[in-house]
Amino acid sequence: MTQDATAVIASHVVDVPDFPKPGIVFKDLTPLFADGAAFRAVIDDIIERYQGSFDTVAGIEARGFVLAAAVAYAAGTGVIPIRKAGKLPRVAHSVSYALEYGEATLEISEGAFKPGQRVLVVDDVLATGGTAEASLELVERAGGEAAGLVVLMELGFLNGRERLAGREVYSLLTV
Ligand code: AMP
Repeated sequence: MTQDATAVIASHVVDVPDFPKPGIVFKDLTPLFADGAAFRAVIDDIIERYQGSFDTVAGIEARGFVLAAAVAYAAGTGVIPIRKAGKLPRVAHSVSYALEYGEATLEISEGAFKPGQRVLVVDDVLATGGTAEASLELVERAGGEAAGLVVLMELGFLNGRERLAGREVYSLLTV
């Protein structure tokens, strides 16, 4: 990763204590999205590392959409949304996973990928890894080949990476 991109993330993330629940420190990356030069630096970093090794990009709802669309545009590929339950009109596959309290479901559309297409999955933050694990599984169920998971930030103390053992995982900044 370029020093630039890592430093840019560190200087733009805003920690929001006790959001959305007491005890959680929310990593707000919208100030980075709002800064053109900063946004370009992180997208360029991702492209530099992965250009040529993926055929399409999948973004995880919702902040992953912002990043995935920019990566796709820069690489000249298409972009596919991985959505929370109930949003897609033509669901092909669903994967449910456990949250701290309760359960979440992610879905992907019919015809998302051509068989064997290499898919780069993109999100803003890797925490416990449940969302990423479910997303990678969805990609594979839909016939894609997971080229890797990219996140801007990884919360190392939550060990999400362990859950993704054997997967290609790239985080630009680990805290
Ligand atoms: P997890 O499944 O625990 O890895 O959570 C990852 C998903 O939840 C990502 O889509 C993140 O956008 C979001 N998320 C989890 N924890 C945080 C946090 N502390 N700050 C910002 N986003 C978070």
